[in-house]
Amino acid sequence: MMTAFTEIYQQLDWHQLAIQINSKSAQEVEKAICSDRLSLKDFMALISPAAYPYLEVIAQKAQKLTRQRFGNTVSLYVPLYLSNLCANDCTYCGFSMHNPIKRKTLNETEIMAECEAIRSIGYNNLLLVTGEHPSKVGMSYFRQHMPLIRQYFSSLLMEVQPLTIAEYRELKKIGLDGVLVYQETYHQPTYQQHHLRGKKQDFFWRLETPDRLGQAGIDKIGLGALIGLSNNWRVDYYLVASHLFYLQKKYWKSRYSISFPRIRACIGGIQPASTIHEAELVQLICAFRLLAPEVELSLSTRESPFFRDNIIPLVINNLSAGSRTQPGGYADNHQALEQFATYDNRSAETIAQIMLNAGLQPVWKDWDNHLGR
Ligand code: SF4
Repeated sequence: MMTAFTEIYQQLDWHQLAIQINSKSAQEVEKAICSDRLSLKDFMALISPAAYPYLEVIAQKAQKLTRQRFGNTVSLYVPLYLSNLCANDCTYCGFSMHNPIKRKTLNETEIMAECEAIRSIGYNNLLLVTGEHPSKVGMSYFRQHMPLIRQYFSSLLMEVQPLTIAEYRELKKIGLDGVLVYQETYHQPTYQQHHLRGKKQDFFWRLETPDRLGQAGIDKIGLGALIGLSNNWRVDYYLVASHLFYLQKKYWKSRYSISFPRIRACIGGIQPASTIHEAELVQLICAFRLLAPEVELSLSTRESPFFRDNIIPLVINNLSAGSRTQPGGYADNHQALEQFATYDNRSAETIAQIMLNAGLQPVWKDWDNHLGR
């Protein structure tokens, strides 16, 4: 019988992990920085408060590893919001069912207009996003529209409700390359406080989604936690790292991506339970590069232009730019429908020019059609 990450998760204790992270010493940090192959204990040291004085050294090593593995390239993607319908209530999200916002699901004509607008920017790497509404934006909607969308793009990822193994296998056949599924928080009591209605209340169904993706042979699996939801980002991201280690060993044919979303303002949204300073966010992202040099580290437009301009040349190898977080936002901008307010509102063209000025090559795709899938 297949095991799942749940079995590892249930042996871990959140409070013990917090104590272990906080008690890491300078010697343990130095050992982690000097290691060529890091353990999860080393990672724990790198994200600990004891590592903060070593930020400059950690960042330099992270940059060196990034250039070694990815050269000077940074790949770009953009989200296409197909629908803001949602049957869930999440306290931090503008698409929550109880929010009295105008709802919209794109039809075929509108989807084509969006795809053409996105292609005209230069993007060939797309992330499909929907709220979680299985009856109206579920498998039959994906079956109907994904083959058409796929014709426009050489790689296609999605961030929608967690599905079954059979459903992922079916979507893979019609063009799905990757799935992002963030646990939001690995602290189960906090998770239950913030997910008030719908299927997303099932913590373990979500926790086991990356296992189902691995079993379905999905090429790229994206993990992350929503920083600010729990009161301890260090424990949350130690558990993201544990999840990644487990998945890499078990589903070694898949590629992995880590994201670092922070809570952003939205209609009816909450205030963060904790904050992470920008220097600590740099520490966290760089620690992942030292732990897993080959893994994609991704940054969205939730972050400020200043922060993005500084961290992209350091360690990021995948980012979004010029994003619209509302259905129909590229062909026709309807601000009232958006999921959250983006922070970096500069155009993709501007971001690409900034990257070129920093000596980086923007790559507008993740894969080439002629290479096969
Ligand atoms: S986070 Fe996702 S599931 Fe929750 S309300 Fe927003 S769109 Fe729906």
